[in-house]
Amino acid sequence: MSETHEARSVQPFASDLSGVDAGPKRTTSLQSRRLPLAAPEEQMRVLGSVDLSRFGGLVDFDKAVEASGGERLRAGDVKIFQINVGKLCNMACRHCHVDAGPDRWRESMDEATARACVRALDLTGAHTVDLTGGAPELNPHFRFLVEESVARGKHVIDRCNLTVLLLHRCRDLPEWLAERGVEVVCSLPHHRQRNTDAQRGDGTFAKSIEALRRLNNAGYGQGDPEKVLTLVVNPVGAVLAGNQCSMEAEWRSGLESNHGISFDRLIALNNMPISRFLEWLQSNGNLESYLELLVNSFNPATLSELMCRNTLSIGWDGAIYDCDFNQMLGLSSAVPTAPMNIRNLDIDALAGRKIVTGRHCFGCTAGAGSSCGGALG
Ligand code: SF4
Ligand code: SF4
Repeated sequence: MSETHEARSVQPFASDLSGVDAGPKRTTSLQSRRLPLAAPEEQMRVLGSVDLSRFGGLVDFDKAVEASGGERLRAGDVKIFQINVGKLCNMACRHCHVDAGPDRWRESMDEATARACVRALDLTGAHTVDLTGGAPELNPHFRFLVEESVARGKHVIDRCNLTVLLLHRCRDLPEWLAERGVEVVCSLPHHRQRNTDAQRGDGTFAKSIEALRRLNNAGYGQGDPEKVLTLVVNPVGAVLAGNQCSMEAEWRSGLESNHGISFDRLIALNNMPISRFLEWLQSNGNLESYLELLVNSFNPATLSELMCRNTLSIGWDGAIYDCDFNQMLGLSSAVPTAPMNIRNLDIDALAGRKIVTGRHCFGCTAGAGSSCGGALG
């Protein structure tokens, strides 16, 4: 990929914030506002109702895969055991695909389900346990899940929003995670304050820098494979994720020179047109152009590495999905004969299953592609 992170846009990238909504930066969950879009079915209806007929059959994701010479997506062996412990978060970012927020405390994994996850983990050959949310650290069973996974020799990932580390209950976490070799994967939309606050709310950047400093002080981001600090960047605005390599170099230079912060690697993700990002696209009149961008940017080279091929995604209530995005859209893994809850996982029945797909999948295959591990193609 030769484009810079300013390229491939239907709006200018927000390095100067032009084209980005200048309205309220912090929002609340769709659910707390009782919006129809809070329902996954409504999100699917909205996505399906956008007229992209000029693209012919290629607006159907499966047909686009087929036309590129690929086969219908199927799951391979489970390598990533991803647990979404719930929708509770100390933040409420505008682009959130989870519709997480401080009001979502009811949707939180309980102890019985956390224990069932650990039992199920032993039935898989997964090498990695990926803990996400919401803010996973706010779940009372987060440390249990980390301890049990580490005890089983798994690589553990904490998907961290950074600001949560400043909460009193989490202040010891950088050292606690470092002692257990947990990789911390942190969201930081930009190395500049203005751009980060535009996506995540005023004051977020300053808190994020403070949290990164604490992680650095705990040994993270210094090249130690047992203390890996990964930054995650989502574009600010209706654009694709930029070139991961050039962004990593830019972020490294910006954070080091201005804040003395170091990190190990950076991954760039596309925003998925679901949940609050879908709301933002609708309210700014960008939904059609963004879907057009995703469809036009379909890149078959990403197909073999899509995360749904090797991930088991588990919801806060134990339900099983092909990926975190399908989870948010309520699209359960499609195996009629298998129990779809982690409490009675039938790993053999899930092997080779057809992945449930939809228009949102173009978000994973656009440009350099996008997965929990970053660019693909
Ligand atoms: S994007 Fe992450 S930090 Fe922001 S509200 Fe959603 S879960 Fe929380
Ligand atoms: S959203 Fe992405 S990861 Fe999920 S099923 Fe579609 S292509 Fe796979």
